[in-house]
Amino acid sequence: MDANTDVADSGLYIIIISLGKPTRVRVGALGVLGFEPGVYLYVGSARRSLSKRIGRHAKPRKPSRWHIDYLRKVSRWVGYVTYSGETDECSLANNVMKAVGGFLTHEGFGSSDCRCRGHLIFTRQKPEKISATLETIDKLRIMEYALSHKPGRSDPKLRHYGGGRV
Ligand SMILES: [Zn+2]
Repeated sequence: MDANTDVADSGLYIIIISLGKPTRVRVGALGVLGFEPGVYLYVGSARRSLSKRIGRHAKPRKPSRWHIDYLRKVSRWVGYVTYSGETDECSLANNVMKAVGGFLTHEGFGSSDCRCRGHLIFTRQKPEKISATLETIDKLRIMEYALSHKPGRSDPKLRHYGGGRV
């Protein structure tokens, strides 16, 4: 992949993970946090190498760099959504929270570099419902959507929207 392609591969994303039971885990400087069972959506952005970033999030084990890395170690991978050409991850987090009827469980999670209250959203909605809901967020064009219900599956089936549709 050359440098230009790498930069074009940028945008916002939502990582969808789940916990089957109440879980306590240390999250870097935030300390030990408790998490309810259910589905969590983490909103992030990549100025370049968006697909590599998604691949990194999909791997449960790696050196912990972001808050989400600590939670990822103990959670199940559900899927992800990416949005091309958009940069306002804080608004997206807010929109997603409203759309899925979710709430922030931990102030400051994922928002060390911005001034919003957090980028980790908890919802009791089922993954199937969430995927349908995320497709209706029309502020942003969905570039690619992938959802896998098989834990540890590294190559989820991709469904393309917009220009990528065949
Ligand atoms: Zn933010």
